[in-house]
Amino acid sequence: MSTFRKQLSAPGLLSIVHNAFLKVPDPGTFTKNVTISITDHLMSGLAIFGLKCPSLLHYDKKRFDETVAANLRDLYHVTHPPCDTYLRERLDLVDPVHIRPAFKKVFATFQRGKGLEEFVYIDGCVVISGDGTGQFSSGSVCCPHCCVKEHQNGKKTYYHQMFGACIVHPEKKNVIPLCPEAILNQDGASKNDCERNACKRFLEHFRREHPHLKAILVEDGLSSTAPHIRMINEFDLKYILGAKPGDHQFLFEQLDADDETVYHDIKTADGYYHQYRFLNGAVLNKSNPDLKVNAMEYRQTDPKGKETTFSWVTNISISIDNVEKIVKAGRARWKIENEAFNTLKNLGYNFEHNYGHGKKYLSTVLCLLMMLGFLIDQVQEICCSLFQQCKKFSGTYRDLWSTMRTLFHYVQLGNWENFYMMIGKKKVLNSS
Ligand SMILES: [Zn+2]
Repeated sequence: MSTFRKQLSAPGLLSIVHNAFLKVPDPGTFTKNVTISITDHLMSGLAIFGLKCPSLLHYDKKRFDETVAANLRDLYHVTHPPCDTYLRERLDLVDPVHIRPAFKKVFATFQRGKGLEEFVYIDGCVVISGDGTGQFSSGSVCCPHCCVKEHQNGKKTYYHQMFGACIVHPEKKNVIPLCPEAILNQDGASKNDCERNACKRFLEHFRREHPHLKAILVEDGLSSTAPHIRMINEFDLKYILGAKPGDHQFLFEQLDADDETVYHDIKTADGYYHQYRFLNGAVLNKSNPDLKVNAMEYRQTDPKGKETTFSWVTNISISIDNVEKIVKAGRARWKIENEAFNTLKNLGYNFEHNYGHGKKYLSTVLCLLMMLGFLIDQVQEICCSLFQQCKKFSGTYRDLWSTMRTLFHYVQLGNWENFYMMIGKKKVLNSS
């Protein structure tokens, strides 16, 4: 069995995150004197998502267990494990902005290790799929940052959402999550925050942290509006945005009638028929005559004759040579739902599970720690052969997490290599 690559493995990545968390300023506490460092709290929170513990309490029950304490120390750099109540109380006070550098450090390591090169898809660009998703909703529990929906019967629903974004590749299952942007009511604001504002904040952070990264933003049909497109252009990004005929009548009239519209079709060996048409330099809509976009429509006919049609606008110049690739990038938008949000919701990360809401930032802090745990797992799965073998031997993610949790609770592991070797070897013995 192979050994770890120095940095692109669990011990390497966790040590990078730990170093970033050492710099998080201690936010103090409401009730008692600070006895356990904020770094210990953050690493303990990360351990909960690393091991996919179904509740904070589950982790807490084992807290005083010497084995668990030793494993938290040896594997997660936790000197003093906090109790459940204290963990919530202290994480509630951490401004989420301080968690962001950990994402950047992990990303930079992945980039230096040449992992990102394999995600470059077209014209030297990576594809970033972005979308909003709900992480919490309640009729009673709320905090000052909750968005509020008022129903006709006078009842209210409180909710948190986030704008999530991942680097995706049409031919790859793994994704690289970037630090998500919480959709929250900002202090003192009278109107609910929205996905578009959160996307803007996301892009501001993204461009500041990655000024030279060439990227194509792909988003759903709600995003192809003039203000949003102008904003993306200002951030010096490429885009491929869903654009439905019903929302863009003026644009589709040009696609139908313009002499410059190019038609292209191809039948592939799998029996599918692909029809493309596109027009560069079209006008987005009547009220924005200066805003030019390149419009394209794609119709796929399966061997049984069933037709599916998609359409987008983009600022990439479309030609017969690149239209198939652009369509594939546009369709890779779904990966944020299929490979990211659904994995988080259904494959053990307990995304929609309510670990606690807090009075200040707890909900957001836990969401960021979960996404950071997901990033570490995805990088391991792409780069670490030892992790790949554990996943292969375990079969599913759920089985792997369950084996990891059991060992973590009952066996003093010493280090990650030993931990993963045990999972691999155990399964080898079982299957022989
Ligand atoms: Zn809230």
